[in-house]
Amino acid sequence: MQAVGVIGAGQMGAGIAQVSAAAGYRVLLSDVDQPRAEAGKAGIAKRLARDVEKGKIDADARDRLLERIEPVGDVAAMAPCGLVIEAATEREEIKRAIFAQVGKVLGTDAVLASNTSSIPITRLAQAAPDAGRFIGVHFFNPVPVMGLIEVIRGLATSDATVTTIESYAAALGKQVVRANDAPGFIVNRILMPMLNEACFALGEGVATIRDIDLACQLGLNHPMGPLTLADFIGLDTCLEITRVLFEGTGDPKFRPAPLLVKYVEAGWYGRKTGRGFYDYSGSEPVPTR
Ligand code: NAD
Repeated sequence: MQAVGVIGAGQMGAGIAQVSAAAGYRVLLSDVDQPRAEAGKAGIAKRLARDVEKGKIDADARDRLLERIEPVGDVAAMAPCGLVIEAATEREEIKRAIFAQVGKVLGTDAVLASNTSSIPITRLAQAAPDAGRFIGVHFFNPVPVMGLIEVIRGLATSDATVTTIESYAAALGKQVVRANDAPGFIVNRILMPMLNEACFALGEGVATIRDIDLACQLGLNHPMGPLTLADFIGLDTCLEITRVLFEGTGDPKFRPAPLLVKYVEAGWYGRKTGRGFYDYSGSEPVPTR
């Protein structure tokens, strides 16, 4: 496979384009329009400039990598791609509309994959041009740093499609885990209840933000505490995924913590809004409780 199409040039799509180009693929990168696709590539160039300064990549390799990424204004340009990865906004109607457009140009052997964090693959496959050549490919953020891909097959996904995705993941140097099409797949199924439980613990007054985070960091040997991590992911995203787990399983153990719901209602989404469990307005994050 020579060319990979990436639809959505946000934080995940740009990361996927970067690692694909780093592995030698030609990449066609689209977004809602040409300027946003160009902005996605500009963001990649900015991050790579920092990597050049730090000596992680040399300037020639960076230039060759960037030459392989072509921003395009329309998915029609993706006709030559053997693999198209959708990494657009996590809204089902947006993804369905994209699949309808891709269906007009996707080659007869080409695979369409979605980077969705939470929408069932079997359901999304109904909007894809061919459910047999549709699959979930769940990258982690930041894509160039994180070494894992969860591969999720829908009920109709063919073995050949799984092989295509796993060969691509291997070319990227990522480890693959296979997950069934169950809510939250593997990582979010296990992680989100822990983050949600930290919100319950805080809401019930078990301990302060600092002590909950320090307890997990040092007591569990985690690189950061659960409230810090929830702020990093985005509390809105954490709530969305927790709701998917709750609604998808019907199991009350996944019910969202009232404090998490309140923070999202207040618009305190974490780092991206400047306030979540921590206040990010100063040089160091400060716990708010
Ligand atoms: P983002 O908001 O950074 O980027 C989404 C991009 O999609 C935006 O640039 C937006 O303009 C574009 N877009 C919207 N509608 C479009 C359309 N019709 N056609 C083309 N592009 C369109 O979001 P993100 O964090 O990059 O998430 C993208 C996907 O990756 C979502 O499905 C999300 O669930 C999934 N994901 C996110 C993470 C994470 O940690 N952020 C991790 C794994 C998977």
